[in-house]
Amino acid sequence: MFSDDEHDPEGSTASMDQVRDTALLATVRRTLAELLAARERLDAGAYGVCESCGRPIAPERLEARPGARTCVACAARR
Ligand SMILES: [Zn+2]
Repeated sequence: MFSDDEHDPEGSTASMDQVRDTALLATVRRTLAELLAARERLDAGAYGVCESCGRPIAPERLEARPGARTCVACAARR
C-alpha cells in the first residue's frame, strides 16, 4: 500500500498548499467582512455598543476582536 505521493511528491505538496491557501483566504474574507461591518457601525455611531443588550463592549474585547458585535456576557450566552 504505497500512495502516489512517493512517485509525485511535488504534486502532493502543491495540492496541500492549495488547501491551506483556500482556508487562509476564507479566514481573511471573513475578517474583512467583520471589519467592514464594524466600520459601518462606526459611521453610524453604533460601534462598541452591544447589538444584543445595548451596553458598551469592553475596550479589551474590541482590541482583541475589532469586529465584535456583542459584549462578553451576550457572546457567552450564545
Ligand atoms: Zn450584551
